[in-house]
Amino acid sequence: MMPGRISNWLRGEGEASLDQLRAARDAAEAANEAKTRFLANVAHEIRSPLNAIYGYAQLIERGEGRDALAAARVIRRSAEHLAHLVEGLLDIAQVEGGAMTLTREAIRFPEFLDQLVAMLDLQAQAKGLALVLERPERLPEFVHADPKRLRQVLINLLANAIKFTDAGSVTLKVDYRNELATFTVIDTGIGIAPEDAERIFAPFERVGGPAAERPGVGLGLAITQALVHIMGGEIRLDSTPGQGSRFTVRLMLSQPLSPPSEPAPEAGAVTGYVGRERWVLLVDDDAEHLAVVRGLLEPLGFQVSTASDADTALALAAQSQPDLVLCDVALGDDNGWEVAAQLRRRHGAALRIVMLSGEAPLAQGPDHDSFIMKPFAFDTLLDCVADQLGIEWVRASGEPRAATPEARAAPRLPLVIAPVAAAHCAEIERLVRIGHVRAIETEIDALAALAPEAGPLAERMRAALDSFDLKALAGLAKAVRTIGA
Ligand code: ADP
Repeated sequence: MMPGRISNWLRGEGEASLDQLRAARDAAEAANEAKTRFLANVAHEIRSPLNAIYGYAQLIERGEGRDALAAARVIRRSAEHLAHLVEGLLDIAQVEGGAMTLTREAIRFPEFLDQLVAMLDLQAQAKGLALVLERPERLPEFVHADPKRLRQVLINLLANAIKFTDAGSVTLKVDYRNELATFTVIDTGIGIAPEDAERIFAPFERVGGPAAERPGVGLGLAITQALVHIMGGEIRLDSTPGQGSRFTVRLMLSQPLSPPSEPAPEAGAVTGYVGRERWVLLVDDDAEHLAVVRGLLEPLGFQVSTASDADTALALAAQSQPDLVLCDVALGDDNGWEVAAQLRRRHGAALRIVMLSGEAPLAQGPDHDSFIMKPFAFDTLLDCVADQLGIEWVRASGEPRAATPEARAAPRLPLVIAPVAAAHCAEIERLVRIGHVRAIETEIDALAALAPEAGPLAERMRAALDSFDLKALAGLAKAVRTIGA
């Protein structure tokens, strides 16, 4: 409000008093201090896992680490912590920058709740807690919501409830009246002191004492509160230290006037394309990326060549004109935009050029036809390739779906390793969605390392990954998560 008044005053619309100016200055200083504190917290949160990675990596390098596997585990956990932190920061940045947009979909409400509870059941079981879903018999079959964000809110609250409860139960109570949905997450855990009730919603704020010994970075509630607010709802906390906490989220979730039509059956997997053979040149200094994209395109019938620097790329293109070039922006010492410019000059507009980058470019050159952010989902790349080449895909005819294919496919895991395996499987599912093959491999290795019993599952996953059958891989991961032990 204050800055508005000041700007009015600067424009000569009314006069700001000295008090108003002071208040505006104090507000600006407070905001600045909050930002400094926030950055100091981010640096602090990054430093400890980074130190662990740095230290252990050096030990292994010198051959001094007696137990390389244990070191690798610390490195992986630290990396996971960092990845989690980055995801949280991106969420916060999106919310703060007003860049977060919500989708509005008709979701099957009762199924949505069941799935949510099933996702966290293993975690609760592992701590010997009962996870209860308390809901009225009659709930609307469909409500409008952004499923991803609503899920994120409820998972944050339920995961916290499980984390901060050592005995008893965690309950998700759902009420729905006049389009107002009330979700209450009730736990019998350590509780939150009244003096902490407000600050735990701020980024990086965590309570000291026994709570501080549990893993976390203190972003969950800040994100949860921000999401609830942008969904137009409210969040409340009631808690008695030593007895438990109760977080209440109230949201307007309207009902669709008529039940939405069933989604069209999923298109079968792409197996090839119609027409003459096309030649694709891949340019990237990351050998792994080249291997992944080659592995995706070759089985579909493309002729694929690869180059890891500008000179090789230009030479290969000169030998035999490719139909499409997929070129990374950062090529070590070379610049992808310059490669694109030269290719365009030499080969004209008939050559389609798609640029790829792990970072959003500040400015894009004029010589390419399309741009893809890395990491990308395979489908995104295929859509782009089809679009650029004007080709039509040949798809596997939709196989009839068995009742629960995953249930048949997934080996059961012993109870002791199932909760940990579930976390890896959730991560694998997420990585499949973004097509991050190297990270998927790491997760499968971690899964295999859990216990000998996880070996066969890991083998099946590796086989699926080797044949780029990411759908089957996601199916296996999902089945373990939902079936558990
Ligand atoms: P994190 O869980 O990563 O520490 P959050 O922002 O989700 O971060 O939570 C902030 C803090 O709020 C936690 O560290 C904990 O001290 C407290 N807290 C959150 N939920 C609960 C709960 N259900 N019971 C007790 N304390 C909680």
